[in-house]
Amino acid sequence: MYVKCPECGEKTEYSENNEYRPFCSSRCQLLDLGAWASESHKIAGEELVDIDEDFETKH
Ligand SMILES: [Zn+2]
Repeated sequence: MYVKCPECGEKTEYSENNEYRPFCSSRCQLLDLGAWASESHKIAGEELVDIDEDFETKH
């Protein structure tokens, strides 16, 4: 089974032989994990703001 690498779009084998699946390489895997980590930090900050707003609305 072949899938498109989510990072660069290259066709890559999705199998146990590919330890970086669904990515084509360790480089793409690290790039995507880095993007995900920075994105989740951003979302966490926004969620804290939302929680404060809800708190004030309900009280
Ligand atoms: Zn790739």
